[in-house]
Amino acid sequence: MRAMPNPAALPTSTAAVAPPDSALPAVPLIDQYGRQITYLRLSITDRCDFRCTYCMSDAMQFLPRDAVLSLEECLRLVRCFVALGVRKVRITGGEPLVRRNVLWLLARLGALPGLDNLVLTTNGSQLGQFAPTLKTAGVKRLNISLDTLRAERFRSITRIGELSKVLAGIRAAGAAGFTRTKINVVMMRGVNEDEFVDLVNFAVAEGLDISFIEEMPLGAIERERAPISAEEVRGQLAAHFSLQPSDENSGGPARYWRLPDSPTRVGFIEPHSHNFCADCNRVRVTARGELYPCLGHNDAVDLLPLLRAGASDAELKQALQVSMGMKPLQHDFSQQMEKPQVVRFMSMTGG
Ligand code: SAM
Ligand code: SF4
Repeated sequence: MRAMPNPAALPTSTAAVAPPDSALPAVPLIDQYGRQITYLRLSITDRCDFRCTYCMSDAMQFLPRDAVLSLEECLRLVRCFVALGVRKVRITGGEPLVRRNVLWLLARLGALPGLDNLVLTTNGSQLGQFAPTLKTAGVKRLNISLDTLRAERFRSITRIGELSKVLAGIRAAGAAGFTRTKINVVMMRGVNEDEFVDLVNFAVAEGLDISFIEEMPLGAIERERAPISAEEVRGQLAAHFSLQPSDENSGGPARYWRLPDSPTRVGFIEPHSHNFCADCNRVRVTARGELYPCLGHNDAVDLLPLLRAGASDAELKQALQVSMGMKPLQHDFSQQMEKPQVVRFMSMTGG
């Protein structure tokens, strides 16, 4: 059940309540625990050309197009976030590169004053076509999902995806000049746990970073397998690599280890075993314009009705401020693998 902000705290009439934008002091987004929000993850579509088993059910219903933020609405929202101190935006989805005219949005965000870091998460399938234009648009870095190097297994995880296209996409990103590209691996017991060493070797050979992600209980998906902890995988990797802890931070939830004689960083995103809430600096906006202050909770502010009712920028910023009161201290996925409490799919919220 989605909790909405106290309506009394939100403006009801544009003309009556909102001060002119220029009269607003730029108050940064700071939550009730003193954490400043500088990072927005924005999902621009719930659609995708893959159907990964951990992300989507086999009978996904996608949103009607008019229920999804338009690209102009996305741009306007990002402008408001940036005015309140957000400096990094990750465009995600669903698969962001299947959104029509995505380059229109990316080029404008890439040139937006105050937005220092525009990054993108993709499944890589469209990068063969898009990589050079993404670079020109001002996208700084790419995260590319890659859970296996075996074509048959790739097909079974993604249901419909083709590994060769993703591998070509990874190479196209390098050829277009992207550096510090990271591959994201969801760790799945009995599915890809025999490939973690191979995936690190692949990252080293291709000059990539790599992050291992603990599977999260999001969406109405049955997950019979026990999650694999990052600690277990570090143990497995330690038999093959000399992993050295590092205090490097890419501004996201990953904690990094270094390999000797290689620029590759090995990251772990540990929502179960080592939750990353204490220094959380991010919020998410879904494809249908819901602002979720926490990935692991259902509280949200619905921005689409405001946008479509002609709210001013001042009113939108006020709604963003209201969401700060909803950001919980932390999430807890530990009891939820079999019966998820967060029923929205990751493709909806954006990873
Ligand atoms: N389609 C793009 C992609 O796959 O990279 C972007 C969206 S996808 C939802 C973003 C990230 O979320 C991916 O790295 C994916 O592996 C991860 N993800 C999806 N469902 C997940 C789950 N249940 N637990 C952990 N990670 C998940
Ligand atoms: Fe699509 Fe990404 Fe979800 Fe896979 S993880 S189904 S590629 S949105």
